[in-house]
This record gives sequence, structure tokens and C-alpha cells, in this order.
Amino acid sequence: MSDSPIVIVGALADPHARAIYEGVRARGCEPVVLDAQRFPEDLPIALGEAPDAVVIEGRRVGRPASVYVRSLYQSPAAYGVDADEAMKEDWRRTTLAFRERSTLLSAILLRWEALGSATYNPTSLSHNITKPFQLTLLQAAGLPVPATLWSNDPAAVRAFCSEHEAVYKPVAGGAATRKVEAKDLTDERLGKLQAAPVCFQELLPGDDVRVYVIDGRVVCALRIVTDAIDFRQHEQRIEAIALDDQVARECVRAAEVIGLRYTGMDIKADRHGRYKILELNPSAMFLGFEQRAGVDIRGPLCDALVAHRSA
Ligand code: ADP
Ligand code: MG
Ligand code: MG
Repeated sequence: MSDSPIVIVGALADPHARAIYEGVRARGCEPVVLDAQRFPEDLPIALGEAPDAVVIEGRRVGRPASVYVRSLYQSPAAYGVDADEAMKEDWRRTTLAFRERSTLLSAILLRWEALGSATYNPTSLSHNITKPFQLTLLQAAGLPVPATLWSNDPAAVRAFCSEHEAVYKPVAGGAATRKVEAKDLTDERLGKLQAAPVCFQELLPGDDVRVYVIDGRVVCALRIVTDAIDFRQHEQRIEAIALDDQVARECVRAAEVIGLRYTGMDIKADRHGRYKILELNPSAMFLGFEQRAGVDIRGPLCDALVAHRSA
């Protein structure tokens, strides 16, 4: 085995980062933790100009064998970040400080990628994750995606919604998916698009399925049984299912097209029962799904991280 460490990027107070930390330790490796929540208040980091000159808490990390990226907690609005007080006091300074911090931390992850560390998942792919780009990459690769419009243009939205029974949801996230009703297409309501663009999408009325792919293999597929359009907080039951070979191949191909070693992707069936890809999440949560469906996702993920030690 090499001395190259396995690095966990995330706070141990974050249950997902902790689960991977414990899983890697249970496999006999002591991971290095880059706890981005402790930086810069409480975590000393020093970077030099050489790619591998990264010293965290006095330890020169060198070239990690593999890296699990839970989160860099990069924005004041990110999960696990509490910047309310600082933002109230001075939002300009706080925003700038977040940028300084996230610029340095991202550079560390980019260096490790450049040094050849197997990264779950690469920061350099953040553009591919952006949904209006992600779906177009999938579409261009010949994969099934729903008809979609991202827009602030009332005329374009009306035209789209006259062609499709549609839902609307945020471009980047932060709100639930809702069905487009006639009242959503009034001048007053569409005038709100001046504040922010919105994603309009063909309504997929069929099964909601979450598929986990690790290193080119479907680890499990879970069907979420619910009556709500947006399944979150409305799950009635989650059950492991077997995917058709063709759907499984499409999921593996999608992860490859976007460039993800690990993903939890959401697919949903149209009215003909044909699955279309809604999104691939780069840092997909897995604990709730494991618990409710009785599947193992962290095991294969930890195995994958540890396997690079002997590579
Ligand atoms: P997020 O990143 O917020 O999870 P998704 O695109 O996965 O965004 O949408 C969240 C959920 O909303 C989906 O899992 C699904 O239940 C529902 N949803 C999203 N798009 C559609 C759609 N086109 N038709 C029906 N339901 C949808
Ligand atoms: Mg989703
Ligand atoms: Mg998502």
C-alpha cells in the first residue's frame, strides 16, 4: 500500500462526511479530514506554489490516493453554514470573505485533481453540474431528458406551456417543483420572472427513481412511492428495484458524460413509462435512502475510495 492518504472534504459534524470517514477507518485507513467548516477560523492551512505544497494542520498532504468531497460549504446559503449574524453585520465583507475562503479551498481540490488523485467528485466539473448545462450535455449525448425551458421571457413561457403539460422549479435550487396552472400564466404572475428566471419542464407523471452510480456501475435503484409532485418530504415508501438493462446503461452513460465517479441521479417516467433524466447530483446524500430502503451505498463508496490506495 502507498502512503498516499484518503482525504475527506467536509465537516465531521456533517453525517454524510462522518459516515464515509468511519467507513474508510473501518477499512483500515486513517483519512485526512479537510474540514472546510473550520476554515479559516480554526483550521491552519498553508499553500506554496508547488502543486503538492499543501499543508493542513501541520501535515503535508502530498498527492492523495483518493478524495471524497462532501462539501466546501462555499456560500453563506450552503447547507451547514450559519452566516446570518456576519451577513447582518456586514454583508459585503462577509461575501468577500466567503470568496477568499472558497477560492483557496477550491484550488486545493483542483491541485489534487491535477496531481491525479481520484476525486469523488471533481470540482473542475462544477460547470457540468449547472442544470441548464448538464441537461444539454445529456441531450447532446443522445440520452433521454424532458422537454425543458429556462427563461424569464413571458412569451416563451406561454408558448412552452401551451405545448406541454408543465411543471416549474428553480434553475439552481431552493424551492419545490410545482405544476403550472392557468393562474401561473397571467401577466402579473409572469411579471415575477423579472426577479429571476425559472425552469419550466414537461410534466413527468410516472415513477420517481433515485439511481446511485459509482465508478461506472449502478449500485442500486430506489423507487420513491408518493402522491406529491415533488417527492421530498412526501415519501410514502422507498423500495429497491431492478432497472432494465437499457435504463441502467443510460444511467452509467449519463454519469460518464457529466464526468462523475459518484452520483445519485433522479429519473422519472413520462406518461408512456419511459424514464427521463431529471438531474445528476454530485454530492448526493445517501443515509436516508439507505435507512429507508435497506440498501448499502456508503459501503461501495468507501470500497472505491480505499481501492485507490493500492492502485
Ligand atoms: P432538485 O435538485 O431540487 O432535487 P429535481 O429536478 O430533482 O431538482 O426535482 C425535484 C423533484 O421534483 C424530483 O425528484 C421530482 O419528484 C419532481 N420533479 C422535478 N421535475 C419534474 C417534472 N418534470 N415532472 C414531474 N415531477 C418533477
Ligand atoms: Mg433531485
Ligand atoms: Mg439536485
